[in-house]
Amino acid sequence: MASGSCACHYISYTASTAPTCLVNCHCTSCRKQAGAPYQTWAFFATDDIRWHVNPTERRSTNTSTRTFCPRCGSTLSMLKHSDLKSIAIAAGTLNEGKTRIPLPSHHIFLSEKASWFELSERDGAKRWDKWGVYDRL
Ligand SMILES: [Zn+2]
Ligand SMILES: [Zn+2]
Repeated sequence: MASGSCACHYISYTASTAPTCLVNCHCTSCRKQAGAPYQTWAFFATDDIRWHVNPTERRSTNTSTRTFCPRCGSTLSMLKHSDLKSIAIAAGTLNEGKTRIPLPSHHIFLSEKASWFELSERDGAKRWDKWGVYDRL
């Protein structure tokens, strides 16, 4: 079981399993929303996440909805409308605990990567210019 919260702890959740994988998304939307070189998403089955208070939704594109905390603004999740069974949780919101969280296994949208950020050659993660593996998660 994993758990997490936003920065101010108003929104919190528990997950009945560990995430299936972690993905670093370098797309412009994720970078701007995160205010960081990329957003790390932790993927779960949507049914495995229980929100104690529901985060606020924002339809970020025609194909996806993001959520955030209405009090502190922390990014919490992203849902692709084409795959409602799988939810991407902002990995930085996960609490440190006993559940083993896998290392990020993929970089996606490297075609939009910030020019001032350099990837480690040794992180072992697969690299994709666009969605890459995402559609199959
Ligand atoms: Zn908050
Ligand atoms: Zn992205």
